[in-house]
Amino acid sequence: MNSNESVRMELFPGVLMSGEVLIVEDESAIADTIAYALESEGFRVKRCTLGGEALALLREGGIRFVILDVGLPDLSGFEVLRRLRTFSELPVLFLTARSEEVDRVVGLEIGADDYMAKPFSPRELAARVRSILRRTERGGAPAPPRFEVDEAARRIRFQGQALDLTRYEYQLLRLFLVHPERVWSRSELMERVWAGAEESADRTVDTHVKTLRAKLRALDPEADAIQTHRGLGYSLGKQS
Ligand code: CA
Repeated sequence: MNSNESVRMELFPGVLMSGEVLIVEDESAIADTIAYALESEGFRVKRCTLGGEALALLREGGIRFVILDVGLPDLSGFEVLRRLRTFSELPVLFLTARSEEVDRVVGLEIGADDYMAKPFSPRELAARVRSILRRTERGGAPAPPRFEVDEAARRIRFQGQALDLTRYEYQLLRLFLVHPERVWSRSELMERVWAGAEESADRTVDTHVKTLRAKLRALDPEADAIQTHRGLGYSLGKQS
């Protein structure tokens, strides 16, 4: 298996060599063994110990893969992933220390690509990173994002252009983007987007979806980003 893997590395140098793997882990002995395993397979690695630090590095770019410990001193790995998903679809592999963490990774739609429970084999971890990258980056560099969310400014860019959104349209689209492909019922959307609002009716959701679609189509006539699921609700279409 090792000789096969090294041949593949030569066949796909771009996949394996470009960009860094970010290791977010506060236990230095564990981070050391992961870094060693990855570097000896030709990956470049970057390390940090805090979730906030990781998000800052991820916003800077140049990272292709994230290995994320769930138990970090500042933010939980789950929270780091939630924030990361508002601006990036980078592949993420969780490191979990407790079975209840495994349950959360497996049971919830938190958008991780894989997980490993401690203790794990660093070689097995490197193999997982390689196979996930091969799957997610086939065909070279990832396409630029269709949507970019600027949480601080409460603005969303679509295909590189800023959308002019009302408050509720922003919240609606942001919710879809944080949970890509999840189908939301009207009542779930009412609860999450219009919580505390005075005006509330089924038609409120439909009206906002309609204006949101029109705004997306104005920038890209082919856009069908928001899908209607008859009898169920709405979801963001598959991001390609
Ligand atoms: Ca930890």
